[in-house]
Amino acid sequence: MPNKAVTFTPRAALKGCATGLAVSITVLAIACATNPATGKREFSLMSEDQEIQIGQSQDAEVRKEMGVYGDRALQQYVSDIGLRLAQLSERPNLPWHFTIVDVPAINAFALPGGYIYITRGILPFLQDEAQLAGVLGHEIGHVTARHASQQYSRSTGAQLGLILGSIFVPATRPFAQLGESGLGLLMLKYSRDDEAQADGLGVKYVARAGWDPDGIPQMLTTLGRIEEASDNKGVPNWLQTHPAAEDRVQRVQVAVRDAERGAESPAPPGSPAPRFRVEHDEYLKRMDGIVYGDNPDQGVVRGATFLHANLRFAIEFPPGWDVTNGQTQVVAREPGEQPVMLLQVIQRATGRTVQEVALRQMEGAGFRPLSGGRTTINGLDAFVGTYEGTLQDFGRAGIRAAHIVHERSVFLLAGIAPERTYQRLEPIFGKSLDSFRPITRAEAESIHPNRIDLYTARPGDTWQAIAERAGKGVVKASTLAIMNGHAVNDQPRAGERLKIVVAG
Ligand SMILES: [Zn+2]
Repeated sequence: MPNKAVTFTPRAALKGCATGLAVSITVLAIACATNPATGKREFSLMSEDQEIQIGQSQDAEVRKEMGVYGDRALQQYVSDIGLRLAQLSERPNLPWHFTIVDVPAINAFALPGGYIYITRGILPFLQDEAQLAGVLGHEIGHVTARHASQQYSRSTGAQLGLILGSIFVPATRPFAQLGESGLGLLMLKYSRDDEAQADGLGVKYVARAGWDPDGIPQMLTTLGRIEEASDNKGVPNWLQTHPAAEDRVQRVQVAVRDAERGAESPAPPGSPAPRFRVEHDEYLKRMDGIVYGDNPDQGVVRGATFLHANLRFAIEFPPGWDVTNGQTQVVAREPGEQPVMLLQVIQRATGRTVQEVALRQMEGAGFRPLSGGRTTINGLDAFVGTYEGTLQDFGRAGIRAAHIVHERSVFLLAGIAPERTYQRLEPIFGKSLDSFRPITRAEAESIHPNRIDLYTARPGDTWQAIAERAGKGVVKASTLAIMNGHAVNDQPRAGERLKIVVAG
């Protein structure tokens, strides 16, 4: 799609729609169309065919970048529930697709044309099928009410492509999204009204399909607790794109009451009130054994160590630093301080030698080499250099970087600090740079992910005890409470069937 700037405001455009004024732009044809979910006439830049086409092409990107969770039965389960809901929506004929993407973040999102994604990370936080249906129904609502299409139109179309494109870190600007996971940028932010509308539509679809619509306020409550307890390590989660869960719980209750009174499926007089399915036990069974947190195929963080089973390497970040495994880069940060280290694969590396690759890339990114030389790091061909440059949030910064050739890729491992603290950090950066090492197949295979297990609470069990015993510290007590539908200061009831995290 051409990257052309189009200047008009949505408000002006909507006005044009209402009064029949002709507005012409060059990128996409404008049409006034009836919104399928709301029945309202509105301004639309995109035909249904265009929606589908965009969904299709972006879907390929999402699959490539996030990965699809490799559990066929679970994919099928989610897809079956999603399709049931979609078929009862106002747009049953879209080519609906439901996919669990293999990321630990807690999220769900939709692309135009009927492409719905739910992360592996959100699944353990849902209590039952009704809540899962609630998440899917909400996302279906965004599609049927054409929120994404409208946003896409407003952002002139071209931008979304660019945003998705930036998941691939451009070789020339490796520090552009420093400390941010590229994924966060993909997520469109919807307005409060759009969110409320999607909640309402979700309730409608869920109730029509026979699941308990109360799953929607329940899952919103859980998401609100996650937000409160979140230590927000830069992981994009549902709440960054779906604001104010608490407020939405209140708003959606009205729709739930209507649905419960049978407004959606009027029962004949005298018949019992419609019964809704929840399917708690069935849902729990489905959660047994799913991966929790990082998947070794995409790299795992163990303390300050980062290991990548697929790319076959390990690296030690400075002890005590917080390590975040993003989609395109791994970032380690000194707690409460500015200095960071980052690791990423250089896309489309150019140059005949690692030195040429390193200098071209760093200079392309605006950094001036001060010194450097060819070396080997644990047997791997590398170029290690010191650079200076200006970075947003840092001002003048010093950088110690290694470009390392491993398994036909060039890795960039860099420590970055503001000029005034650089001297202190340089030896710390140096130690991490020297720690990059290949790992053997056996070592790669010995990295096991954390998994969800089912457990029946015994008298006297506390979240803290379970987190320490089974989780060995990889999961917090408060996370276990939230995961099981409890407020963080509740304790499990004896005999209660729980999802727990077992350390890999
Ligand atoms: Zn939403």
